[in-house]
Amino acid sequence: MTTQHIETLIIGAGQAGLSTGYHLRELGRPFLIVDGNDRVGDNWRRQWDTLRLYTPAKYSGLPGQPFPLDGWAFPHKDEVADYLETYALHWDLSVRMSTRIDLLEARPEGGYTATIGADTITCDNAVVATGTFRRTPYIPAFAGELGPSIRQPHSSEYRRPGQLRPGKVLVVGASHSGTDIAYEVAPTHETVLCGRDCGEIPVRMETRRFRAAYPLLAFAARHVLTRGRDRPCRRTRCRTGRHRRCVRLPGLARHGRLRAGRGPARPIRPRRGAARTACGPAGVAAAQLTV
Ligand SMILES: Cc1cc2nc3c(=O)[nH]c(=O)nc-3n(C[C@H](O)[C@H](O)[C@H](O)COP(=O)(O)OP(=O)(O)OC[C@H]3O[C@@H](n4cnc5c(N)ncnc54)[C@H](O)[C@@H]3O)c2cc1C
Repeated sequence: MTTQHIETLIIGAGQAGLSTGYHLRELGRPFLIVDGNDRVGDNWRRQWDTLRLYTPAKYSGLPGQPFPLDGWAFPHKDEVADYLETYALHWDLSVRMSTRIDLLEARPEGGYTATIGADTITCDNAVVATGTFRRTPYIPAFAGELGPSIRQPHSSEYRRPGQLRPGKVLVVGASHSGTDIAYEVAPTHETVLCGRDCGEIPVRMETRRFRAAYPLLAFAARHVLTRGRDRPCRRTRCRTGRHRRCVRLPGLARHGRLRAGRGPARPIRPRRGAARTACGPAGVAAAQLTV
């Protein structure tokens, strides 16, 4: 059992943790970044094979080091992972990997104690930069009512279309992950994408129009649609050009939100008024569910 003291402990070596480390280093303040993963960037490496950022490289760099791609390129997830790893090395940030904090407690005398198995780190300041990746997947309650013949991988388990069985695919959740996956799966599997319509950016990515529109969209997202809020509202989490194309892709149908039906024969039904073609009993019997 070991105990160590550090002025600032940063939990998480993602974008937020590394940026915080960079700024503390610039100020000459001691810090330690700890992360439960084996390598910086592993959260990105574990995503599906074809994932690319929806933010251009010029908006995806961290302080002090631009993303090493053309500013309007959309980095692949492995490029993001390598960029983060190189960033930590380049700025010689003090990072300890394979170190998952089990417990963080305030000390009566001030500061915090972080527990890692049998070891502890005490600190004057703790920065929790643990992000949103790899949290407990959200599985709708009706998932448990589906027949065992329906595979239900969560998007965090999805890597490529070859993982799925032949037959129809029902993608539940139409935000970034769900729409990306539906787009990728639709050419090989008849696919239905379900979820609320959260709007579209009205220009396609990788076009001059997108480049011209992006600063305006970013401004609207940061300063207009978020006015009076401390985090982006629903309207700002709009879909990208990929989503726009996705809706038009042959083999891909859209539904609104799903709700559970009654009995094993009709485990899921689309909302009233929505097209029923791919969500009827036959469709569901052959479906695979990605949440
Ligand atoms: C599929 C997908 C696509 C995305 N695409 C984009 C995009 O195109 N553009 C964009 O700007 N954003 C995108 N995002 C969002 C972006 O990934 C996050 O906003 C960003 O990663 C948040 O950075 P972070 O440092 O806060 O957290 P993370 O990058 O999630 O890093 C958190 C770190 O904390 C570590 N950690 C967690 N708990 C502990 C613990 N108890 N002990 C030790 N370490 C711990 C984790 O291992 C992880 O390394 C996307 C997200 C997803 C899921």
